[in-house]
Amino acid sequence: MNENNQEPLLEVVGLNTHFFLEEGVVKAVDGVNLTIRRGQTVGIVGESGCGKSVTARSILGIVPSPGKTVSGEVIFYDEETAPNGESKQPVNLLELDPKGKEIRRIRGKKISMIFQEPMTSLSPVHKIGSQIIETIILHQKLSKAQAREQAAEILGRVGLSQPFELLNRYPHELSGGMRQRVMIAMALSCHPSLLIADEPTTALDVTTEAQILRLMRSLQAELGMAIMYITHNLGVVAQMTDYVIVMYLGKVVEETDVDTLFFDPKHPYTKALLRSIPRLGASQGQPLEVIHGSVPDPYNKPSGCPFHPRCPERIEGVCNTQVPEVIEVKPGHRVRCHLYV
Ligand code: SF4
Repeated sequence: MNENNQEPLLEVVGLNTHFFLEEGVVKAVDGVNLTIRRGQTVGIVGESGCGKSVTARSILGIVPSPGKTVSGEVIFYDEETAPNGESKQPVNLLELDPKGKEIRRIRGKKISMIFQEPMTSLSPVHKIGSQIIETIILHQKLSKAQAREQAAEILGRVGLSQPFELLNRYPHELSGGMRQRVMIAMALSCHPSLLIADEPTTALDVTTEAQILRLMRSLQAELGMAIMYITHNLGVVAQMTDYVIVMYLGKVVEETDVDTLFFDPKHPYTKALLRSIPRLGASQGQPLEVIHGSVPDPYNKPSGCPFHPRCPERIEGVCNTQVPEVIEVKPGHRVRCHLYV
């Protein structure tokens, strides 16, 4: 999908989320800008600790303590019309009362999130049925019987057999793959405009992972929702996404459509990530490259470009002293690197 041919659904502008620890302040999200358009799947990629999950949590206002979103805007374009028939104004989610009615209406009904570990969202002491039914009733004007019907229907849709029987079971009675499907069903039960998926298949075996990815793709086509897909797995990015944002140490370092990312990457970090994945056609036994060095200490980020200690293309005297700005190398392809100035 071309990045400009759809209306924006969510715009993140100058987002900063910091963690205030005894050892110092960690700028986990450091001036992030990104746009998600209606129906688009945007991949957020990077190594552990690059800030991708904290960005997602900041959007929903669920950053765990001692983290705090200190500045920025998260503009959500709600497509619903106001009761008087006028179009609703875009709303800055960061300005809403974090425990108020409006953010709770948006969270769950408009924007849903699924996590790597289903037990993050499922209660171990309640039956599957009561959990999904409660979510449905919270956001839709339905009777309990209608909500039960809808809950069974959505469980069937995510590929679970005997959905009515499943409603009476507890999460611990299900396999990991089934729990993940239940969580997806719960997230989709209110037909959100945006689904945020944070490494939802990382803990699953490859067969179940492939099934869940196919399922999410087909449900997306059916329901027309946008997906923000967080992963460190570039194979999943290739399968799932239209547009990709690469993050390193809390900053967006490259963003472009998925084909350009794989065939014409610009940022040395993106190129290194791509060299570290297996490729079809590579000769057998050819070792994969590893990214030189490790992610630096987040309390003490390197000066200049934070990737410079690991970068094979660094320009001495420039990259270690000057912070690179974002450059648009072609429409819709932006990169934060001195090589393209
Ligand atoms: Fe490498 Fe310099 Fe580009 Fe950073 S700015 S990625 S160090 S070339």
